[in-house]
Amino acid sequence: MTEEFKAHAAKRKSQKLTYRNPMPINDALTNTAKLSNAVMDQPHPLYTELVPKTCWLSNVRDHLTTKEWSEVKDWCYKRSQYRCEICGETGIGQRSRKWNVEAHEVWHYDESDLSQTLIGLVSLCPACHECKHYGRALAIGIDAKVRYRLKIINKWTWAQVYAHCEESVATYVKRSMHNWTLNLDYLKEEFGLNVEIHRVPIILEDEVVQTLKTMNWRNE
Ligand SMILES: [Zn+2]
Repeated sequence: MTEEFKAHAAKRKSQKLTYRNPMPINDALTNTAKLSNAVMDQPHPLYTELVPKTCWLSNVRDHLTTKEWSEVKDWCYKRSQYRCEICGETGIGQRSRKWNVEAHEVWHYDESDLSQTLIGLVSLCPACHECKHYGRALAIGIDAKVRYRLKIINKWTWAQVYAHCEESVATYVKRSMHNWTLNLDYLKEEFGLNVEIHRVPIILEDEVVQTLKTMNWRNE
């Protein structure tokens, strides 16, 4: 671990979690479940966050060495005390390791200049992480399971669950129709990591566009 990284980690250790949910918070949708072991300072709703198709091939880990990504993940896990920053669970029992949180990249999409900016990294248990990547859940047929978790964690009605899934898939389709410039300044600010962006614009074939346009929020 570099000295610079250590300094950042020490500085942040005593600070509050800085998770910034990229979606506007609707009062009606924030009544999250109370969980005894939750480490959050305030409850965070569980929202899906589908990454546009045109951003798929250049995420954070693609821009870091294995060692750097490992350090960033460890920082994330330690900061959250190895608990999910949404539901407070360790993930133990969901799978078989000693602890089971996973690092999730949180993005902000600016429609005005078509930029995708990393704004944070959060620890999530596998079950909450699956909800974030709802497009993958649809692709592998576990979307019903994901919708059920959205309902339980957020204490939503089914109508709220369906509305959220429908909206997030529609947003994904819209955002996938063009390319985004990638901003990873967060890695410099948080960890002192200088990252050279290497994102190649994607050309969307007509067939892919048609598939996107017919994408449904429910796998049926
Ligand atoms: Zn969780």
